[in-house]
Amino acid sequence: MQVAVLSDIHSNRHALEAVLDDVRRTGARELWCLGDLVGYGADPNDCVALVREHVTLCIAGNHDLAVTGELSLDDFSAGAALAAGWTQEVIATDHLDYLESLRPLLADGEVGLYHGSPRDPVWEYVVGVLLAELCLDRLPGRLGLIGHSHIALSFDRQEGLPATGSARRDGETVDIGTGSWLLNPGSVGQPRDGDPRAAWLLLDLTLGTASWRRTTYDVAGAAAAIRAARLPDSLADRLQYGQ
Ligand code: ZN
Repeated sequence: MQVAVLSDIHSNRHALEAVLDDVRRTGARELWCLGDLVGYGADPNDCVALVREHVTLCIAGNHDLAVTGELSLDDFSAGAALAAGWTQEVIATDHLDYLESLRPLLADGEVGLYHGSPRDPVWEYVVGVLLAELCLDRLPGRLGLIGHSHIALSFDRQEGLPATGSARRDGETVDIGTGSWLLNPGSVGQPRDGDPRAAWLLLDLTLGTASWRRTTYDVAGAAAAIRAARLPDSLADRLQYGQ
């Protein structure tokens, strides 16, 4: 079974629509979302509607929990808090209800889904191998999917060996048939690994492979929407750099 894994969409409709077009060209039957549907970007309603229409499994990210009021805006950077407050004003009630129904992890299946990490699904950023070891210890199964850092990467630990990790570029495919793994698709709507293209992951649970994908989208359109919504310019500018 093939699954498209998306994370950190961040109200970027331009990126999400382009990724969904690419996903349709694959054999993926399911779409899993690792949270942060909203925050930063200008199209929260369109993004939540598209996720609700297409997604099989979905968890909440810290920005979703900021918009629902479960987390305090004081815990966020100035730009993020501003965007979350703006999102609270414009989001439709039924989309807010949907966000409120989500939890930051789903760990009862063959693959664990966590927005941050298996240790702290809301806040923890897993970008280093020492922390990855501790997180791999906490996985109930062999495979864990994580988002939150907006960096496409993987960590794995094979029998009797220490964990290793690497950033993952467009088109890279790894064999996940042995060992335990943490896989981060990167961010659909606000990549921070220097590649401005929308990031996602194609998981083949039958073959035991994970493939990182990047999708070109209308970055200028997404940035213009952020400016038109009078959100901070920095949120628009960063999209073209992938930072
Ligand atoms: Zn995020």
